[in-house]
Amino acid sequence: MAVTDHVDFPTFMEGVKKRNPHQPEFVQAVQEVAEDIFDFIEDKEDYHSEQILRRIAEPDRVVSFRVCWEDDAGNIRVQRGWRVQNNNAIGPYKGGIRFHPSVNESVLKFLAFEQTFKNALTGLPMGGGKGGSNFNPKGKSVREIMRFCQSFMTELYRHIGADVDVPAGDIGVGGREIGFMFGQYKRITGEFTGVLTGKGLEWGGSLIRTEATGYGAVYFLENMLKHRGESLDGKTAVISGSGNVATHAAEKIVQLGGKVLTLSDSGGFIHDPDGLTQEKIDWVKTHKTHRRGRISEYADHFTGATFHPDATPWNVPCDLALPCATQNELLGPDARALVENGCTAVSEGANMPSDLEAVHVFKDAKIMFAPGKAANAGGVAVSGLEMSQNSERRAWKEDELQAMLHDIMDGIHDRCITYGDQGGGYVDYVKGANIAGFKKVADAMLAFGVV
Ligand code: GLU
Repeated sequence: MAVTDHVDFPTFMEGVKKRNPHQPEFVQAVQEVAEDIFDFIEDKEDYHSEQILRRIAEPDRVVSFRVCWEDDAGNIRVQRGWRVQNNNAIGPYKGGIRFHPSVNESVLKFLAFEQTFKNALTGLPMGGGKGGSNFNPKGKSVREIMRFCQSFMTELYRHIGADVDVPAGDIGVGGREIGFMFGQYKRITGEFTGVLTGKGLEWGGSLIRTEATGYGAVYFLENMLKHRGESLDGKTAVISGSGNVATHAAEKIVQLGGKVLTLSDSGGFIHDPDGLTQEKIDWVKTHKTHRRGRISEYADHFTGATFHPDATPWNVPCDLALPCATQNELLGPDARALVENGCTAVSEGANMPSDLEAVHVFKDAKIMFAPGKAANAGGVAVSGLEMSQNSERRAWKEDELQAMLHDIMDGIHDRCITYGDQGGGYVDYVKGANIAGFKKVADAMLAFGVV
């Protein structure tokens, strides 16, 4: 019988790079996981001989399609759409849809790969997928967005289903876009099913789905601090982003006694030394979501706050940092500045916001660092609970859901400790999350044989 030689880490990564040329984000995400998994599987023959990591790092399929739509001026516009179905070993593919000009196959493959581990960590039966388009919603009218969403779903509908693949929102896709896509799915198929999550409360959505990612990232942070005998009370936090994740993370930090100093968008960041209050956060929510405004206007509105164009908030001294905007927004030098300025804990609200160098800076400094696949899993976890409610054709109460979200984030923290405890009080949360997520998916794959 042929026996596959054990491939070492450099050879494995060389193969990943060769097979995925011009896909730096995907290669980065695989490397971050493989660094830990190679140590873990060293003495585990099955994982080697069954080529488990090699198989998880090859999406089950990548569907790419044309999306045509007509703008308000009557011009025909053509965008590219994708759905990356990475792995469904433990449940239907699950993951958001992103509309942003930076979206390409590499970005979606990285996100679908990350999602596979994140979803496994939640303990819920969800596989990993991600989709999106290079469509830029910025500056488009509501009708244009509706026509784009309808055209996108006219192609996507044949690849998804409540037991097949359940998309949700992500950057550029919120409740409004989910509504347009759900409406089109229902129109084409004639079925009312839980095929998307992040739905409106009147039509199958779940309470606390909107808050879940930001709140979850703070619950995870709280768990890390608690593990070291500390709390959020009185601590200062810098947050990037000003969307759904950032504003709800800010809200929860303030509720738990912390002080939030910054928020940002692609134009720069605002620094409010007095700290954000609930009233200020509510203003940002309305300003960004309903008025689609810029964060710079915060500084005109609230005295004492300053706006810093074309800059990120990582040089502002703080105890805690929560990157909640997008991938690779926190680089090696930013991580060094945070550590030098006394930051002791980082919780990633976005997906892979810290680049590989930044992750290594945090690990070397042995600060508490929660990777996105653990820290931001609260969003998809409540999506999983939305799927359960849809299957049951019931809607659960807010306090039940809050307790479940808290419980799921505590469970993820426990799983990270199981595989990431390095002794001497230091927990390598990246390693813990990677191994715990991998093990669940890998063991399911072993059970299925070579498929
Ligand atoms: N886009 C979110 C994430 O990155 C949520 C996905 C979902 O709810 O399916 O996890």
